[in-house]
Amino acid sequence: MSLKMSHDKPTPLYLHIGTEKGCPRCGVDEESINHLLFLCLPSRKIWALSAIPSLENIFPRNDLFYNFDFFLRRDKQFGIEEDIFGIFPWIIWYIWKSRNWFIFESVIEPPQETLDFAKQGAKVWSQVIIQLFSPF
Ligand SMILES: [Zn+2]
Repeated sequence: MSLKMSHDKPTPLYLHIGTEKGCPRCGVDEESINHLLFLCLPSRKIWALSAIPSLENIFPRNDLFYNFDFFLRRDKQFGIEEDIFGIFPWIIWYIWKSRNWFIFESVIEPPQETLDFAKQGAKVWSQVIIQLFSPF
């Protein structure tokens, strides 16, 4: 297990299980959470294919907290419809699954396929929520 220390304290952002710190998908020196979810090339392709706008110097950035803030609060600032951002948890989840599928099963999932799984997950989730809160 490799542990990067920041200010002499381990931070969850840099906890990295395994012997290699590099990104297994693109080879960058350190695979941070922000890198794997937002900056790694396969992840960038998935975000670019989504309806969530990938804007130069706005999203994604090299800042995990900013990127989540973008999803949670920036929609009004940039005039983006709120329902467009509703899929972001699903995209993140399926990026994570796709990354693990590559690492543990050596399967390269096309970005469009990952996005399609995320869309399907979001659709099923919304149907379940509607049924749960439906009066009949
Ligand atoms: Zn990478």
